[in-house]
Amino acid sequence: MDAAEFRRRGKEMVDYVADYLENIEKRPVYPDLEPGYLRSLIPNEAPLEPESYEDIIKDVERVIMPGVTHWHSPYFFAYFPAASSYPAMVADMLCGAIGCIGFSWAASPACTELETVMLDWLGKMLQLPECFIAGTHGRGGGVIQGTASEATLISLLAARCKAVRRVQTINAKKSESEILSKLVAYTSDQAHSSVERAALIGAVMMRKVPTDNRYAVRKEMLKKMVEEDKAAGLIPFYFCATLGTTPSCAFDHLTELGPLCNEENMWMHIDAAYAGSAFICPEFRPLLNGVEFADSFNFNPHKWLLVNFDCSAMWVKERADIIGHWQIPLGRRFRSLKMWFVFRMYGLKGLQAHIRKQVALAKEFESLVRADKRFEICAEVVLGLVCFRLKGSNELNQELLKRITKSREIHLVPCQLSGRFVLRFAICARTTESHHIQQAWQHITQLTFELLQEASH
Ligand code: PLP
Repeated sequence: MDAAEFRRRGKEMVDYVADYLENIEKRPVYPDLEPGYLRSLIPNEAPLEPESYEDIIKDVERVIMPGVTHWHSPYFFAYFPAASSYPAMVADMLCGAIGCIGFSWAASPACTELETVMLDWLGKMLQLPECFIAGTHGRGGGVIQGTASEATLISLLAARCKAVRRVQTINAKKSESEILSKLVAYTSDQAHSSVERAALIGAVMMRKVPTDNRYAVRKEMLKKMVEEDKAAGLIPFYFCATLGTTPSCAFDHLTELGPLCNEENMWMHIDAAYAGSAFICPEFRPLLNGVEFADSFNFNPHKWLLVNFDCSAMWVKERADIIGHWQIPLGRRFRSLKMWFVFRMYGLKGLQAHIRKQVALAKEFESLVRADKRFEICAEVVLGLVCFRLKGSNELNQELLKRITKSREIHLVPCQLSGRFVLRFAICARTTESHHIQQAWQHITQLTFELLQEASH
């Protein structure tokens, strides 16, 4: 493909993408396939001779599309949203073209500098305390990670180094391995599995803090565990708080937990992977109160802020603490271009409107559930996630979800809350409208009617 063909094919691809997204709701949201479907559709080896572009593009519909779960369909309500917008996609094309590997300032100054400024812009949109903003003289600042999981790992590794140094200043004779074997980290029993994985990789103990009846960590529980561990000769060094837990979008009580972490010399990291985007709206910003006590904070613009994957924004108060751990890989893509295009083309007001619209849609779905006495809401609806279930056994709810998945008209995933099987309905696609919510609910109630009829026979 030379430049002339690239111009032609590139334009065709833009048309294909626009058609795909404009017509996405006509496709079944979830594929109807068995695992291993793809291998039989393509050769076992790469071609020896070049093939034509036409042949490849034909295979996109034959091989790829039947196996795609359409995350950007307005009937997709599973997991959490994956952000998608046209400005981000266009910026990603440019990122591909520049194709730099920005591992140092000299490796591509614009890549390093735009990232620093975009993280400042975003930090200011969230009204992060000044100490997290790099500016020209700040000691804190932000960095783009690939995922929230990486941000958690990096914060844990930084906290581990800091803890070892601190113990050795008091007792120079203590070896690093002796200290490491005593370090203990904490997180909520509702935290994402990536937090536990960070402790596994970091080779430190991690204890799960039980949550209250709203699935949030309170100070008293953490304090009790820290005291027990100190009495047993362990060294508490790290707490990962969650704002917007994966199962139910619960919020740990930062304003209580932060001062405790500071008193105990424990690094506090905040994982707000999904919920973080909402803090650009003044009405949701109080959920972030207490961030001033944190050492690091992270959320995924690639979830809910219209910046396509991958873009996970992480800030630290003291850059010096993580200089050795800015990121896991050496290479960095020019990901801040996506932020720059999105922030400029939507403006803060446009981004706020997106969040508010999706929260309103979640509230609309919540009202539909509440109005039907066969169902119950299982956790407070704060943002764009509704946890609900049929009043009745776990098996009944499992069967309902099985039928929903099989119908391929809408897509949801479950969670466990207090041992109960719960359905999660997350507002995901940028193009979801009220009529999609109404239709989804109609579909759920139709399947429920059939299920309950069968159950009563
Ligand atoms: N933390 C929370 C609270 C999440 O909900 C998720 C994913 O949904 C993650 C972390 C993992 O995110 P990532 O895929 O960016 O690592």
